[in-house]
Amino acid sequence: MPAHITPNQLIQFIIPGITLVFSLSFACAWAYDKRLRYLLFLAASFFAFALGSTVQIAHLPDEWRSNALISASFYVASTQLLAESILRRAALHFRVTTHALIFTLLMGGMYYFSYVASNLLVRIYILNLSAGLLMLFCAVRFRKRCNGRTINHILFWVLLICGASFFIRTPLTVAQPLPHSSAPFAQTLFWVLLQLSLALMGAVLGIVLLAVAMSDVIDRLVLERDFDSLTETLNRRAFERLALHRVADRKSYPLALLAFDIDNFKSINDRYGHAAGDAVLREFGAILRAAVREKDVVGRIGGEEFLLLLPGTDGEFAYRIAERLRTVLESSRFDEIDATLRVTTSAGIARYRPGEDVAAMLARADHLLYAAKRAGRNRVVTESSGQTLDASALDIA
Ligand code: GH3
Ligand code: MG
Ligand code: MG
Repeated sequence: MPAHITPNQLIQFIIPGITLVFSLSFACAWAYDKRLRYLLFLAASFFAFALGSTVQIAHLPDEWRSNALISASFYVASTQLLAESILRRAALHFRVTTHALIFTLLMGGMYYFSYVASNLLVRIYILNLSAGLLMLFCAVRFRKRCNGRTINHILFWVLLICGASFFIRTPLTVAQPLPHSSAPFAQTLFWVLLQLSLALMGAVLGIVLLAVAMSDVIDRLVLERDFDSLTETLNRRAFERLALHRVADRKSYPLALLAFDIDNFKSINDRYGHAAGDAVLREFGAILRAAVREKDVVGRIGGEEFLLLLPGTDGEFAYRIAERLRTVLESSRFDEIDATLRVTTSAGIARYRPGEDVAAMLARADHLLYAAKRAGRNRVVTESSGQTLDASALDIA
């Protein structure tokens, strides 16, 4: 560290210090769930900012032109990485060539106004307005992808305010009697206020982004806790929790529960192997997911046992749906396993009886499912008579 570092400068190092802590926090969050790649860009963005301000505060190198250029390159990279991370979180991104173009243009401008026609004001404008523009651009692009989540709306507004603040803050420099060398400028009240407001905004943005990262990590954990990754349907625990909600909501009535169990699944495993059995489970999961509406609940509650809870569905309609699902599976082809393989399922349907609990309804559906097995498999049994309804009488498409 150069010998001329003053106590003032040491205090200023708080900014890169805090920025570095944010950078490390994002890197840790990424290490926790590496699928959240935008966190890496965030970590890199805060790291680049910390480097930029360290270079600036410590006068590394001492010659002001190269110092201005090096710190500017870190600041520009930091804003570009920030923009990229926010876009990536919303499943968007900039092309590498766009980034290269932005970087070259901005750094070209910084070089020109340092070495050719030295002008501190223009350099400040270039850095601040480009950062503001990038943030506003991200805020606008991000807005459409907020999905009604509070944390996303907060991020949108923070980006908007931070982006807009650059446009308010920068013209204020015009009112300042500025010296031409960057060293005395660093001692003006304006520069101190500029740094302070930047630090405050950076801290707010950092905290909001950290909250965003935490909520994304938690969302992932909840998803993993609730979902069966093989079939992408709910697991037993999550199914039962959602079923409780549906049962408690009178608007869901009439409520039908369909219990499916793939026929002779063990022999599929035995004959073609466990991986083939998994492929069959995935296929049936996909068939069920394709059939459900948003308010329906579909889950895999055991090896080859699936449940479908249908709010606003009477027994007859539930029977038609179960029959359709049964025939879709029956006519599915598994050419990659064996072109002659045919898979069937049996099903039992229970209608919710107001006052009973979920377990009682489940037990009745299970009972009817095993009645279907006993009756020869590949059929649907409802509780109207405990016998298979005649499909043709119901005019099934
Ligand atoms: P039934 O027609 O009476 O239902 O006969 P089944 O052979 O389908 O019934 P059984 O309950 O005896 O067999 C279920 C098999 O499912 C046993 C188990 O090895 C297999 N299984 C459980 N979970 C998985 C899984 O995740 N993947 C695969 N491939 N098989 C599984
Ligand atoms: Mg079975
Ligand atoms: Mg079974």
